[in-house]
Amino acid sequence: MKMTGQRRIIARVLSEATDHPDVEQVYHRAVRLDPRISIATVYRTVRLFEEASILERHDFGDGRSRYEEVTDEHHDHLIDIQTGQVTEFRNPEIEALQRKIAEQHGFRLVGHRLELFGVPLEGAKDTE
Ligand SMILES: [Zn+2]
Repeated sequence: MKMTGQRRIIARVLSEATDHPDVEQVYHRAVRLDPRISIATVYRTVRLFEEASILERHDFGDGRSRYEEVTDEHHDHLIDIQTGQVTEFRNPEIEALQRKIAEQHGFRLVGHRLELFGVPLEGAKDTE
């Protein structure tokens, strides 16, 4: 992929992100580094990065696509449906279980997606 200056800036914004920004958030951060970047460019670039498997797209249930750089460190996500806050976690038992399920069906697991949706325990009590 040809890395133009603007693509490079968008790539930098995404690799520096510690959250899971949507396109608007990526745009606001990118424009701070280069005011000539348009939202259309961000949309296009993010799509290109996704097709090139540089970026992973997530759907955390609010209808907005969130993006995250693809890394070797696999993790899953727990989403607070009240605040939208996303917690990353790793669980070896879940990983092993998923491999086992795939094998039971005659498959070697090459990937998976797991999103847990919840409300904080105290918040859940308040609504009872
Ligand atoms: Zn993540």
